[in-house]
Amino acid sequence: MSLAGVYVHIPFCRSKCPYCDFYSIVGDKKIQQEYVDAVLKNINNSKKYKDADTLYFGGGTPILLDSDLLRQIVNAVKIKFNLSGEITLEANPCITTKDKLKELYKAGFNRISFGMQSANQDELDYLGRNHVNQDIINAVTWSKEAGFKNISIDVMLGTPKQTKSSIKKTLDFLIALDIQHISAYMLKIEKGTKFDCDDIRNIVPDEDEISDIYLFVCDYLSQNGFMQYEISNFSKKGYESKHNLKYWKYDDYYAFGASAHGFVNGVRYSYPRDIKQYIQTSGENYIVEDYDKSDAEEYLMLRLRLSEGLNLKELSCKYNVDINELLKVSDKFIKYGLMQKNDDNISLNPKGFLLSNYIISEFMLYIS
Ligand code: SF4
Repeated sequence: MSLAGVYVHIPFCRSKCPYCDFYSIVGDKKIQQEYVDAVLKNINNSKKYKDADTLYFGGGTPILLDSDLLRQIVNAVKIKFNLSGEITLEANPCITTKDKLKELYKAGFNRISFGMQSANQDELDYLGRNHVNQDIINAVTWSKEAGFKNISIDVMLGTPKQTKSSIKKTLDFLIALDIQHISAYMLKIEKGTKFDCDDIRNIVPDEDEISDIYLFVCDYLSQNGFMQYEISNFSKKGYESKHNLKYWKYDDYYAFGASAHGFVNGVRYSYPRDIKQYIQTSGENYIVEDYDKSDAEEYLMLRLRLSEGLNLKELSCKYNVDINELLKVSDKFIKYGLMQKNDDNISLNPKGFLLSNYIISEFMLYIS
């Protein structure tokens, strides 16, 4: 039986990026300490169903917290969930220092994920990011010196003024850094963010250009040793994010912190996007979410995000689904060159990933 993951949300940032919809505030040391105290209480009081083998600190900008506070959370999770395995921290390259990275490695972190988004200064300016490429080079070099052997970098696709040649420059920069993992997420203009305006909509690549950029990224990274294992994630062999795989493989993950989402023992739950309320209640204010999808729908939807795809026999055994109709749907998409089938396994290719919402909705018609 697979073990669980643990997600901890650290909702502090130095400033708000104009495209970002994650829950974060600019908080001082006092509120950071109060927040960590609440997270620790939440972890200690939580009900444990199984041990964990991954821990992921997301945000926000978790690296903003003092190393000692981060270490306290790591230790609490180790004790409560008998944790040993992958421990990831999301980090901002311009806040990272050599000493901090050494402290983090000593505290037990063994994977670090930097938000870079682009190696082109004009694109970074649009995104409101205040690092330069040298900050990334320093952050990666210092991480390696500190002992990190598993380094990930995020890039963003479909950003203002991005072209196929500018994304190639970004990828070449990343490949030269000799890191293990790259996430390449599409920019989504979220309601209520500063990007939610025509000035931005008019300068992002159009749908055809975005498709071209995405297919280029998938192809170029695979030619350069980064295997695509999920719609937006690429890694060298053996360096897939074990924590994120739990989301897509429908495994359990505990969550702690304001706005964090968890899935344990078949129950989805989340904490409100309200740090003060979280501190006051130490996480007792979580909400059990009503979900409009059946387990079989959810399983299919998540599994088809993965390059390894979905085993139809497994789906049929687990959820009592008649696979004959699903086979007809997959045959149609195989004919269009968007999917492949190996024995009982069906999976999307990069062209299929681009149309995954539509393809998944076609499968959903035959699952209840
Ligand atoms: S640093 Fe990350 S979490 Fe913070 S505002 Fe920017 S994108 Fe959002």
